[in-house]
Amino acid sequence: MLAWHMVVYAQERFPRPEFETDYTYPEYQLPVARNAAWEYIDTGVLVLVLLVTTWLALKKRSRQGLVWISLFSLAYFGFFREGCICSVGSVQNVALALFNDGYSIPLTALLFFIIPLVFALFAGRVFCAGACPLGAIQELTGIWPKKLPRAVEATLATIPFIYLALAVLFSATQSQFIICRYDPFVGIFRLNAPYTMIIFGALLLLAGVFINRPYCRFLCPYGVLLNITSRFASRHLSITPAECINCRLCENACPYNAILPSDLEVKNEEPAVIRRKFITYLVLIPVFAFAGAVALYIISPGLSGANYDVKLAREIRLEMDEGIPAGSNAAIAFKGSGRTDEQLFTTENEIITRYRKAGPWAGLFLGLSIGIGLFSLAIRTERTEYRPHKGKCYSCGRCFKYCPVKPKIEST
Ligand code: SF4
Ligand code: SF4
Repeated sequence: MLAWHMVVYAQERFPRPEFETDYTYPEYQLPVARNAAWEYIDTGVLVLVLLVTTWLALKKRSRQGLVWISLFSLAYFGFFREGCICSVGSVQNVALALFNDGYSIPLTALLFFIIPLVFALFAGRVFCAGACPLGAIQELTGIWPKKLPRAVEATLATIPFIYLALAVLFSATQSQFIICRYDPFVGIFRLNAPYTMIIFGALLLLAGVFINRPYCRFLCPYGVLLNITSRFASRHLSITPAECINCRLCENACPYNAILPSDLEVKNEEPAVIRRKFITYLVLIPVFAFAGAVALYIISPGLSGANYDVKLAREIRLEMDEGIPAGSNAAIAFKGSGRTDEQLFTTENEIITRYRKAGPWAGLFLGLSIGIGLFSLAIRTERTEYRPHKGKCYSCGRCFKYCPVKPKIEST
């Protein structure tokens, strides 16, 4: 991934070529806005897909049905709508709107942000199961799922929190929409992205053959919000259609380590050990939160380089101080724009100040998330059955077939 990022970065360092042929740049270099009616159609399709997915996951309990509905979403939201609008990217529109009075968020972006979270509150992550095109394309390639060791899984699972914190920070400071910029599958959906993007997406799909849904599990920032909200879901898919008999046949059925075993199978720890763990992890929450806030405050000037004005100011300063020519497109455009160096440096300082203010909040969120995640390990639950972890379960239905229990026949 790092190597891929370097290629993208290197491409940006060079100005566009001056062609000596009769080549002309295309009239539109950004997608032309689509008819507004499509925005309402998209929202309607999203709600419909979520309703059908909820029914398939909770009532009908059909893995096959869930695969078909996700294929539809892949075709519609992925290839037909070319991955935009998408709930994952809408996080950035919401962050931009929350912290900038001058930006009014499009209604569809707001609805695409809220609707899957509302469904998660009532039925768990049905969005991941049937409506997300990014999840659907990965679900298709998960052919030989291998489980990761829990420690590796837990470590990698912190990345989406970092990604979310950075995405919100960069959007709130009007720097970049990194979720869209580094969307690994949009290149495949549009069939015309830079080859680096297509390679990145293809690599993730290849990895997904063995490690199911790598983007959903170890990158997706919207998944963090779905994970949190679905923990409060009033209803959720169950592995068994009736009463769990603790046969353990489903124990290894989930490629995402999302099945919680019954307490009958878990060796109880000594009460004193449990108490000690509980207190230690509880105390660690504010420690992590504080450390996160301080860390992000310290590195926030460095992170501000994600803002184009800051990046440009640094390039111009390098030219002034060390004589390294500022030759990027942005620098050439700046020199011809009539803006003075002082104005640029003032803007740079303002942006760094915004980063200094916003950075600690992002760090606080990160520290709290890690602290609360650790603390949750110390909480004892009473489970007499095997059931999905509400936050981690993608409602994919793979585990249904492992359960030998038959549904109860309702008497008339
Ligand atoms: S439905 Fe949930 S618990 Fe079952 S296999 Fe899918 S993600 Fe795992
Ligand atoms: S959920 Fe079904 S398969 Fe899993 S332990 Fe219970 S009865 Fe067995």
